[in-house]
Formats: sequence, structure tokens, C-alpha cells
Amino acid sequence: MAFVNENYLKLPGSYLFSEIARRVNKFKNENPDADIIRLGIGDVTRPLPPAVVEAMRHAVEEMGRAESFRGYGPEQGYDFLREKIIENDFRPRGIDLALDEVYVSDGAKSDTANFQEVFGTNNILAVSDPVYPVYVDSNVMAERTGMVNAKGQFEKIVYLPCTEENGMKPSLPKTRVDMIYLCFPNNPTGMTLSKAELKQWVDYAREHKSIILFDAAYEGYIRQDDVPHSIFEIEGAREVAVEFRSFSKTAGFTGTRCAYTIVPKEVMLYDSTGKAHSLNNLWLRRQTTKFNGVSYPVQAGAAAVFSEEGKKQVKATIDYYMENAGIIREGIEKAGYKVFGGVNAPYIWLKTPDGMGSWDFFEKLLKAAHVVGTPGAGFGASGEGYFRLTAFGSRENTERAVERIRTRM
Ligand code: PLP
Repeated sequence: MAFVNENYLKLPGSYLFSEIARRVNKFKNENPDADIIRLGIGDVTRPLPPAVVEAMRHAVEEMGRAESFRGYGPEQGYDFLREKIIENDFRPRGIDLALDEVYVSDGAKSDTANFQEVFGTNNILAVSDPVYPVYVDSNVMAERTGMVNAKGQFEKIVYLPCTEENGMKPSLPKTRVDMIYLCFPNNPTGMTLSKAELKQWVDYAREHKSIILFDAAYEGYIRQDDVPHSIFEIEGAREVAVEFRSFSKTAGFTGTRCAYTIVPKEVMLYDSTGKAHSLNNLWLRRQTTKFNGVSYPVQAGAAAVFSEEGKKQVKATIDYYMENAGIIREGIEKAGYKVFGGVNAPYIWLKTPDGMGSWDFFEKLLKAAHVVGTPGAGFGASGEGYFRLTAFGSRENTERAVERIRTRM
């Protein structure tokens, strides 16, 4: 008889987006003529930049000729891409990285989920609440979180509420934590931390020998000056932080798959005797054992993001989404809603009116306006009473959705 990993049985039964799909399908069956606008799931809609398509086409042709064919690539990614990442995303911000501190992967989802594997199961983790669910669920699977309570929270996780009262910014934990997941610009709230605010986290981590797992998947959306693009802009972060980045939301790679993670050599994990072990070495060991790299054509496409044309095309795509974000933010605010995010992020986080539950608001929005969004409660207990809209739709649908919310809700 084969036994199940019982940690999987502790996970919430229905994944948020399956539940949304179920409810939308039910509504569609009952109202086949309803013209539904989806501003729910965080997937992009603009196509790959032409510079990326061209580079990928060229790379595929290289793979089709014996003299330029490539087999297995380096697990950590090709040097040509890692060099471009350092040169474009870090050096201009005064951050020096070695090539072997950059790990190319097939996604920030897999990296943020897999990274916990090299940490002991006795670490205490902290997450902001609401939270991108992958951080929590991957730690549940690994037996680091204990049992779930009636609020859907796990007993060994330290939840850091982000609410209207604290401006959606997590406060430093009151009890000691070892692993800290931070995501800025944030999914789902769309909010950011200033350099001074992020520095408090780096200082906390240095003092407690904790490690910050910093998800910067939405870095490309930052518009305001004082918002750090990388945690490594903060002094001392190289000792205590890992940073996850992705080509998904910048260059439209959600279906193409390419991301990268920065693991500085100074970051250490400790064994039970107090001996330090390099996190970079541990992650290298993990990746070389369990991962065989991202395909050559995809890495060639990702490298083209950093070409002159690629940069212009990616900027145009992000500008398009950020104009959508502005349209949603201003339109919803004018309609009387309290709104967060949407300034340095493609997410708009609104407070539901009159204390309405976020699933009730979901139903009302679907039935009255035929607009689909994401209930805040799906991201954690503190998300109750909030609702997420995304800027990834077409301009036309974004404008129509805002108009409907203004006139029908
Ligand atoms: N991190 C955050 C905060 C996200 O919102 C997402 C996707 O929605 C990801 C990571 C996943 O990125 P990728 O497509 O690179 O797996």
C-alpha cells in the first residue's frame, strides 16, 4: 500500500481560481447572453514583443541544424542571458552580482515554491496577509506549518496583516521568525515599500539571522522614485536576501516560461551545531539535481528583452497595462470606492462598500455588472472585505468594466 503525503490533505480544498471559474461558468450557463469581462486572473493579454519572437525563431532554426544544435544547457541558465540580466537589471542600480549568483528558471512560481526545500522544517515562516498563496501552500506540503484553523490559517505561520489601518504594509513580527516572504510591488494589494521601510526588514533579518525571500515579479511596474526595484539596493541585503524575478508580467512570458532568482554568496543557513552553509551552494545542489534548465529558444527570447528594440517594446506593453491601471483606479475612486495599488503595480485592491464580504461583492459584481474580479478573502483572512481587479485586460474591456461598475453597482 502506498501512503499519501498527509501534508497535502491540509491544503484548502478548492484552489481560488477554480472556484471563481466554477461560479462564472454557472452564471454563464444561466445567462448565456451575458457579455462577461474578466479582470480576475493575473494573466497577461498582450503578445510577446516582436524582438523576442524573432530571437526565438532564430534560436529554433539554430536547433534544427547539426552545426548549431544544442543539447542540455547549464542548469543555472546560459551565460549570455545571465550576463544581460546583471548588466541591465542590476548594474545600473549600483548592484554588483557574480554570474553564479543568477539562476535562470522556468518561473517565479516554481522558484518561490521550491526554494523552501533547502530550509529545515523547523524554521518559522512569516507571510503577509493577504498573500500570494504559493508561499504558504509550498510550505504546507513540506510540513513546516502545522494544522489549519477555522480561519484557514496555519498554526506555525506568523501572519502579518496588511489592512487599511497600516496602509497595506506588514509590520515587523513580534516573535522571532526565520523565513520571511515579502512581495513588492505586492500581489494582491498592488502596494509597495519605500527604501526606508524595506531597510527595516533587512535590519530585522540581519539581527535575527533570518532570510528574506523577496518576490519582485512586478518590479517592471514601479513608477515612483523612492520605491526600490531590488532588495539589493538596501545595504546589508546581500547577507540575508534572495530575490525572485520573472519575465512573465514584463515581456508576456506567462505561457513561454522564464524567470530568474538571485542568490548572493553571503547568505548562510545554519546546521544544528551552528555551522554556516552557503545558500547559494545549497540552491546549486538542488537545481543541478532536480532541474535541467530552461530551453535554449526561450532563454534566447528572454535575452532579446534586453536588446534596444526589446526594451522599447516591453516598455510599451507595461505602459499599456499601467494606463489600464490608472483608468481602473481613477474610475473606481470616482465611483466612491476606497482604492489601493495601481500606481506601481498592475493590481487594484478596493475596499468593498458597507463592509460587504468579498465573495458577496464578487457575486454582485458578476450579476449586476458582468465583471469578474478576485475576492480578497481568497488571498488570506485579512483580504476579507477587499477585492482585486487587474490591469491586464484590453483597453476596451477595461473602460467598459469601469463604466459598468460606475453605473450598475
Ligand atoms: N510571484 C507573484 C507574486 C505572482 O503574482 C506570480 C504570478 O502571478 C508569480 C510569482 C509567478 O510568476 P511566473 O509566471 O514567473 O511563474
